[in-house]
Amino acid sequence: MPAMRFARAKLLAWYDGHARDLPWRRTRDAYRVWVSEVMLQQTRVETVVRYYARFLRRFPTVRALARAPEDRVMAAWSGLGYYRRARLLHAGARAVVERHAGRVPVDYAARRALPGIGRYTAGAIGSIAFGREEPVVDGNVARVFARLFGIDTPLGRGDTAARLWLEAERLVRGPRPGDFNQALMELGATVCTRASPQCTACPVRAHCRAHRDGSVARLPIARARSSPRAVKLAALVISDGSASSPRVWLQRAPGALYGGLWNLPLRDGHGRRTAEAALDELGLRARLESRARGTLEHVLTHRRLHVQVWRADASGTPASTSATLRRHTLTGLARVGVSSLTERALERAGLAT
Ligand code: SF4
Repeated sequence: MPAMRFARAKLLAWYDGHARDLPWRRTRDAYRVWVSEVMLQQTRVETVVRYYARFLRRFPTVRALARAPEDRVMAAWSGLGYYRRARLLHAGARAVVERHAGRVPVDYAARRALPGIGRYTAGAIGSIAFGREEPVVDGNVARVFARLFGIDTPLGRGDTAARLWLEAERLVRGPRPGDFNQALMELGATVCTRASPQCTACPVRAHCRAHRDGSVARLPIARARSSPRAVKLAALVISDGSASSPRVWLQRAPGALYGGLWNLPLRDGHGRRTAEAALDELGLRARLESRARGTLEHVLTHRRLHVQVWRADASGTPASTSATLRRHTLTGLARVGVSSLTERALERAGLAT
């Protein structure tokens, strides 16, 4: 382990000279760190850079986020995907205001008890914002550790995860734990990359088991993935208004595929009967076209959606709205925030946003 302490110091020195200048690295504010960490989960850094400052302009404090209506939060998140993250961040902000007077708790257990804060996010906030020796393991850290320590069991398995967290816990102890965690992630993102690790530029090369053993290309061992489940859906593009300024009906279905987000009405199954039944259920008197506009394939993490797009003309339908069903102009969609699937289906139906 002393050799690893040495590697820790080298990694920190490397980070000081090579860290990318990213907006969330200029703050130690726990709320701002939290927002960045949630955004960075499953989203590329370049994309997050575009959204981070804008989100914080709209919700500059945890209190501002907590009191915002869900529609506004979802609209600010629109385009980042994985909308469950936004709902949980919003719920977490409300819990911070209710339980902790608007201050993100320093205490680890209290932080972990907040909605949406798992072990990784708690550790990132604890180490970066509060300077606590709390570990993090994300995909980048897992890859670096698998190579550094020669861990050759598959990622995603319980024993592999336990070993990775144990190593992270050991190594985070010492000066500047927040910078150390960020240095590990930075190394994984820029040097010890999945496809082309730059071992010659690596500050911890001398300590790396995989480099010594020639097993860099073999590690980490990928987790066994199950293929995404195929799901058939019908999407209804129900429009009215003039050709130059059409309006579409959107539905918000809590707990569904895109729970909390305004979307085209979606129903399980394909075929005209499915589309007709959906119109009945929505209570809209609309004229359905005789044929579907085609089928889109849309891949989510665990599902491969085959979405048949149906268009219906609802001119003359009373404009009654509810908390879960409303008409929106195409230009107004940006304000409420819709999924990329809705954008694609609108385009397929001839209504580009
Ligand atoms: Fe990764 Fe190569 Fe550095 Fe080892 S020496 S940590 S494999 S970049």
